[in-house]
Amino acid sequence: MKILKDLLFLLLCGMFLCACTKNHEKTYKESRESLHTVVAITVVSDSSDKAKSAIDKAYHELDRLAKLLNFYSEHSEVSEINKNAGNKPVKVSVETFEIIEKALYASENTEGAFDITVGPVVKLWDFKNKVIPDADQIKEKSKIIGYKNILIDKKDSTVFLEKKGMQIDLGGIIKGYAADKAVEVLKSNGIKAGIVAAAGDIRTFGKRHDEGSWNVGIKNPRQKGSVDEIVAVVKLSGQAISTSGDYERFFEKNGIRYHHILDPKTGNPAYGCQSVTIVAKEAAITDAFATGIFVLGPKKGMGVLNKLGIDGIIIDKEGKVYITDGLKGSIELMIKDSTFA
Ligand code: AMP
Ligand code: MG
Repeated sequence: MKILKDLLFLLLCGMFLCACTKNHEKTYKESRESLHTVVAITVVSDSSDKAKSAIDKAYHELDRLAKLLNFYSEHSEVSEINKNAGNKPVKVSVETFEIIEKALYASENTEGAFDITVGPVVKLWDFKNKVIPDADQIKEKSKIIGYKNILIDKKDSTVFLEKKGMQIDLGGIIKGYAADKAVEVLKSNGIKAGIVAAAGDIRTFGKRHDEGSWNVGIKNPRQKGSVDEIVAVVKLSGQAISTSGDYERFFEKNGIRYHHILDPKTGNPAYGCQSVTIVAKEAAITDAFATGIFVLGPKKGMGVLNKLGIDGIIIDKEGKVYITDGLKGSIELMIKDSTFA
């Protein structure tokens, strides 16, 4: 169901993509399952063979990273790090080291609101089967959350989780990071422009063949029906965009919405926002900050964005929309005022 929804969302975004031709260039688009979601890859190319081969290689890269960085697989490097928590540093690949470095950058700049050591509490929550974990269990597992206890050694390329029981879960950054890497593969295979869209984590590069911008829609986090309603369209030229929302994986019990973006301080869902969209150069950064700013809430979140010069759109818990100044010229709002519900 989630995958179907993702596909619908991407199709909707796709509506904004032009498919006309110029200088023999065409837009080629393909959607496949990877990273436990639907990933759409769009490229501009003068040759269908070149486009197809580059797209195949990009999907191969996404699948490779999904395997390497999977929190739930026994055989991933992430599992190897987690198994050795409190015991010894683990030597890791360049990619594992790099994504953890980027995650730590996001932690340091969001007062720890983005924190990949939320792993133990993530495993307590079961949104599919609507399980609310026991409050004592959440409290117990929350004690070992803390990105400051991740020790990295660049020279030896090792990662060490200092406390026993610590677990890193890269779920809040992996789709963006993988989208960046897939773009590198497309570029090294001669593609000059395109998009890699891993559900809500999207990286664009180059220009559309008609010189227009890449347009990405932001969903209404409180839409009533199953058809996606777009509340804003952001025009991009080579940047990345990510949206984190409390409507992606959630259930409701007694009027309370329980969703998958957790406050590392409490181990419970964060309640300041409905959705956060971030625009920046890299999708690893937009992915991590969309999750982290969601946890921080609108006030502190806008403060962080303004301080770092990162752009974003925050829809707070009441449906009030906040937009950074840098985005005001490249966003089209589909709503009458700055509030909707
Ligand atoms: P996203 O959909 O990118 O916002 O990421 C949400 C996913 O990241 C969750 O399903 C968890 O796996 C993980 N996660 C949840 N809360 C946090 C957090 N505060 N910091 C880092 N990762 C988180
Ligand atoms: Mg994220």
